Amino acid sequence: MSKPTVISNTGRTIAAQALKRFEASLFGELILAGNQRYEQARRSWNGIVDARHPQLIVRCARTSDVAYSVDFARNNQLAIAVRAGGHSLAADSFCDGGMLIDVSRMKNIAVDPATKTARAEAGLTAGEFDRATQAFGLATVMGECSSVGIAGYTLGGGLGRLMGQHGAACDNLLSVELVGANGQVVRASAEENRDLFWAIRGGGGNFGIVTSFEYRLHPAEQILGGTLTYPISDTREVLAFLSEYMKGVPDEFDIVIDIGNSGLMPSAPGIRQPIVNLLVSYCGDLERGRAALEPLRKFRRSVVDRIQVMPYLEMQALSDVRPVAEFGSSGGMMTLESGFVQRLDIGVIDSIVDSITKAPASFWIAAEHYLHGAVCRPAPGQTAFALRNAGYSTRIFSAWRESNQAEASVEWVRSSTEALNPFAGGAMYMNYLTGSEGNAGVRTAYGSNYERLSILKRNYDPDNFFKSNRNIDPHHDSLSMS
Ligand SMILES: Cc1cc2nc3c(=O)[nH]c(=O)nc-3n(C[C@H](O)[C@H](O)[C@H](O)COP(=O)(O)OP(=O)(O)OC[C@H]3O[C@@H](n4cnc5c(N)ncnc54)[C@H](O)[C@@H]3O)c2cc1C
Repeated sequence: MSKPTVISNTGRTIAAQALKRFEASLFGELILAGNQRYEQARRSWNGIVDARHPQLIVRCARTSDVAYSVDFARNNQLAIAVRAGGHSLAADSFCDGGMLIDVSRMKNIAVDPATKTARAEAGLTAGEFDRATQAFGLATVMGECSSVGIAGYTLGGGLGRLMGQHGAACDNLLSVELVGANGQVVRASAEENRDLFWAIRGGGGNFGIVTSFEYRLHPAEQILGGTLTYPISDTREVLAFLSEYMKGVPDEFDIVIDIGNSGLMPSAPGIRQPIVNLLVSYCGDLERGRAALEPLRKFRRSVVDRIQVMPYLEMQALSDVRPVAEFGSSGGMMTLESGFVQRLDIGVIDSIVDSITKAPASFWIAAEHYLHGAVCRPAPGQTAFALRNAGYSTRIFSAWRESNQAEASVEWVRSSTEALNPFAGGAMYMNYLTGSEGNAGVRTAYGSNYERLSILKRNYDPDNFFKSNRNIDPHHDSLSMS
């Protein structure tokens, strides 16, 4: 089969010889459109995300592959996208035309139990990372879905069940190795390239391609957790109780509140009866955990109480999104919008109860990642990750298979999300932006750090080479910091 022509942004045909030389320089793989491995390499984890069509996909095996790819793309005026776990909700890790730099095969990890640190390559998923560190009874703050990439997750902040104790994932970063827009490999840490280290802890993929992350680890073995399930008619009472109870929960506590009937909730797979499902955990002294959870388990009779002591890994697996991924890859369609609520006060509860009464055939409202404790203690300017407000990130979701259900689902998700917006307190989680929020959403998520991020973007990536992300404008019309 003849190799397809690769065309630069400026319309120039890239010489076959140049492509050959580039391919020969790689330890990984160069896959061009038309290659039999192309479709599989292009595809996303989620069948409903339109994975777009890059002209070249580089499946990097080493840092040098990433550096050569950046060089090649720059020298040949090719737009790029960067992919690790591929879970971007805004499809940022896909590009039409240009080069996809895929680091998902870079999966080495070295855990040092003596210093409680791990150096992990950027292609690991949260599940792979957790398994490696759990072999030593250790963990860091990882997302609650095993297939999410540690790279996109950590660079956007990183919320997970241990954040009340240990902060966001990015707060547990000790250093990174990264390939900059000039193709140079640099390290950033509290000692080296400090402003870059500040920027990558929340600034997403705007400053370079991270090839490895060094994390601080913490002991996490047995955990008290599981689900409490209530009929949907109890929504108001459950939320009203939680609004008071959550004010006093210890840092070790975490909760995800799922309301709906989609059958796709990770914590209640296949359940089609409308329910309120609480996925709670306490990572710490088990007796104290039992005492902390007692009021929650007793305030009202739940249909199911599956709270028990279990290994940390088992707890992490309870929120895996396999049902959603299987639904998407088997032709199911879904729509999702994200937001934030500061408290479960009466306005929020009224709004959720009202949304339930108008819900389409399949719906799911999730208030998750309850930000409290250590994740809220740093000042917003301490890292680029600015979301230090107490509260819940929310996701409103609907799914369908029959196309005539699409309009009602999309409209319900939009209007329900909009109804909660007044309770957000100007907060938004960058990693949950879906793209529908436009620039305003990006500005809200970076918050008061946007000006400084824009100046650093101008220093590190003045041409906005890294642009397929929740993008920071390097030429944002800001006051100089000097
Ligand atoms: C099902 C699901 C569950 C989730 N659960 C959680 C959760 O529990 N907690 C949470 O905080 N978030 C969660 N998220 C959000 C998740 O953190 C973001 O979607 C994150 O960006 C995914 O990272 P990724 O590497 O998988 O994605 P990708 O799509 O590969 O990348 C996302 C972004 O990061 C950039 N990027 C990727 N790799 C690199 C790199 N090596 N260097 C520089 N830039 C890079 C990409 O270009 C893109 O802009 C979830 C998302 C989904 C879809």
